[in-house]
Amino acid sequence: MKNIRKILLVGMVLLVFMVAVPSMVGIAQSFLSNNGVDEQVQDMSRKDLDEISEDNKNEEVEDVEEVSNDIVRDNDALEGNKEIQDDIKPENNLEDVKPDPSKKVFLTFDDGPSTLTPEILKILDGNEVKGTFFTIGKSVEKNPMWVKQAYDEGHMVLPHTYSHDYAIYTTFETYYNDLELAKKAIEDVLDIEVPYIFRFPGGSSNHSSFKYGGEQYMPKLTVDVKEKGYYYIDWNVSSGDASSDYDKKDKIISNVLDGAKNKNLIVALFHDTARNTKMAEVLPEIILELKNQGYTFRTFRDITQDELDAMVKLKLANKPIIR
Ligand SMILES: [Zn+2]
Repeated sequence: MKNIRKILLVGMVLLVFMVAVPSMVGIAQSFLSNNGVDEQVQDMSRKDLDEISEDNKNEEVEDVEEVSNDIVRDNDALEGNKEIQDDIKPENNLEDVKPDPSKKVFLTFDDGPSTLTPEILKILDGNEVKGTFFTIGKSVEKNPMWVKQAYDEGHMVLPHTYSHDYAIYTTFETYYNDLELAKKAIEDVLDIEVPYIFRFPGGSSNHSSFKYGGEQYMPKLTVDVKEKGYYYIDWNVSSGDASSDYDKKDKIISNVLDGAKNKNLIVALFHDTARNTKMAEVLPEIILELKNQGYTFRTFRDITQDELDAMVKLKLANKPIIR
């Protein structure tokens, strides 16, 4: 009798062990793998996840699972991981955003290249958007590698000026000499023919020229460059990053986003200068918000004639200067 009880007891213990252990292992495994995914989700966009709904969160996790498989398959796991994270970042925030083809933004960066150029390029690349650099010829000659990098990565590089000295606005000759040098600096580095598109130092309606060529200088010069077939480009949204507020992040964001309100075609002005690190810090947020609003990011590299015509109508290009 004792022996039978012992056998029964041992049998029951064995049974319990056989049933319970695998299911406990299963629970533990699923707990661990969920935990792993959570960590990755947090790494990828800790901040963004707080903002998305529970439904979206499930989709996020699915996306991440696919990505984590990709990472395992990737031979160069670290680099692959980084690339995938960069790729997924905009998507995570743009679940329901469809680009509105009628809304376009041209990001423009004046006065580079500078030590900030690599950082700007990194941000544009990470957010999968392209921009246009209106460059200073002297700096192009000094830092050809950043100009080359910008162009190689799909951005446009155009002339702003060679010297950025407002004394260029003394005679037509002094102006065109400067513009030609600015074009040549780019052509020497990129081995391309620079199109007839540029931005005046100070913009087309600048007052800095008064001191040199007088009040009627810009009205006359702008007519002359138009006759030569040029498009000069101004802007309708300014980040204010060349003002005394250049280091105020909130101000730069609100300048751009307030300026963008009710505009379908935007040429946004930023400055690619060494001191503008705060602008670079908020640039991803600005890009993300414009994406959320449905804007498509365009450049002067692949601008269409229709887009140029629309800019002329809006006085973003070839604005008549009447004084
Ligand atoms: Zn400038």
